[in-house]
Amino acid sequence: MEKNELFITEITDMTAEGEGIGKAGAFPFFIKDTCIGDTALCRVTKLKKNYGYARLEELKETSPYRTEAPCRISRSCGGCQIQQMTYQAQLDFKTEKVRQNLMRIGGFEAPEVLKCLGMEEPFRYRNKAQIPFGTDKEGKIIAGFYARRTHSIIPQENCLITFPEAGDIVRLVKEWMKDHKVRPYDEASGRGLIRHVLIRKGFRTGEIMVCLIANGEKIPAADSLVDSLKTIDGFTTLCLNTNTKRGNTILGSKTVPLYGPGVIKDYIGDVLFEISANSFFQVNPEQTQVLYQTALEYAGLCGNETVFDLYCGIGTISLFLAGKAKHVYGVEIVPQAIEDAKRNAALNGLCNVDFYTGKAEEILPAWYKEHPEEKIDVIVMDPPRKGCDPEVLKTVTAMAPGRIVYVSCDSATLARDLKILREEGYQLEKVQPVDMFPMTVGVETVCALSKLSEAKHHISVQVDMDELDLTAAESK
Ligand code: SAH
Repeated sequence: MEKNELFITEITDMTAEGEGIGKAGAFPFFIKDTCIGDTALCRVTKLKKNYGYARLEELKETSPYRTEAPCRISRSCGGCQIQQMTYQAQLDFKTEKVRQNLMRIGGFEAPEVLKCLGMEEPFRYRNKAQIPFGTDKEGKIIAGFYARRTHSIIPQENCLITFPEAGDIVRLVKEWMKDHKVRPYDEASGRGLIRHVLIRKGFRTGEIMVCLIANGEKIPAADSLVDSLKTIDGFTTLCLNTNTKRGNTILGSKTVPLYGPGVIKDYIGDVLFEISANSFFQVNPEQTQVLYQTALEYAGLCGNETVFDLYCGIGTISLFLAGKAKHVYGVEIVPQAIEDAKRNAALNGLCNVDFYTGKAEEILPAWYKEHPEEKIDVIVMDPPRKGCDPEVLKTVTAMAPGRIVYVSCDSATLARDLKILREEGYQLEKVQPVDMFPMTVGVETVCALSKLSEAKHHISVQVDMDELDLTAAESK
């Protein structure tokens, strides 16, 4: 085969990244924008030794799992990968991806994976948009999304997975820029003022934050921008973030409010969070609640437990668990996130949480060394994509909690870590994928593990306690 050659193939499988897999003879090709069950005319775009890449040119037969992608730029935009699949097919794909990884990487023989929990309405779920600004060939201001693996902007104001006001806000910012001759930033020359606009909404409170990310410390005519943003329902605050560095990092470290408090509030479950421009906050609050509710259920708390929440971020899971546990310890590497976590604990009047700043692989072993006798009932962990450091897994199993709840955004590293936990005497009880990012290939998974002997020990201790209480009551 050669580059640009055409061939017809049936799509028989899919990669974890959402590309269809088809064959020309025995030679496999990865073909973006296709679905299992499609028969497609494809054009070779790249050839490697044992596989190649091809582009979908024309559908010859349409898969039953295929639907019309509702967004007009879905094929070129880097945001969504599987809009061409029906939502049910997306959920099945995610369940299967987790199951396959548990088998292939984790060595589990026939793992029972619960069906991926999806959304009733899988669009408009994102509470945050970071929209790059630039110019087109004629020098006109454009705002939109980066094309896959590039920094060229595809103009698109109305992203269908983001809340609708974001598009209206982008248009108002563009008008303000035209009216006041404010230029967008140009990556090549490093000139121009507006780099990105970050927009966040508290879905439960309705509060909206707009943050301009500028290549400078001042913007002209801020009042006029505020006046026009006030026409947006829920607009609460306008901030200015300064980033004068070249490079890909979106936010600079300095943010000042230009109007309003500089933060918005939102809830996950009953827990209230204050969110600033720089804070991390889950982007799909509805499914975050589903995810954490599952984690809470798997933690099986009665109110007497001491819990560790490793990789706690701004303490979302810690605070969610704190209402049901005796004490929660959170561990997180980013100091700013820990500041947010402490502030949010105070905001909710939760006094039974302590946060440690540092690497989980250093903090946890040090803590265990200092408190070898303290019983930890449950350890929750929600690591980044690369999974847990071996030192963390080693210490967790040495601490021997009765239950472990593993929340993962990458089922490959999850499977690798579960294998280790199983070898150290933990049994995998439940695996629940949750769809936090419909239309993309991402999937979050919550797993419940238990230490069998510990569980038995736990029950017998509780029975003894009950008997003790009874005799105490009788003797009164
Ligand atoms: N549980 C949180 C965030 C999970 S994301 C939530 O649901 O909101 C993973 C977190 O792990 C990030 O906040 C990241 O900063 C943190 N992290 C990354 N490496 C770490 C390490 N070695 N030790 C502790 N935390 C780490």
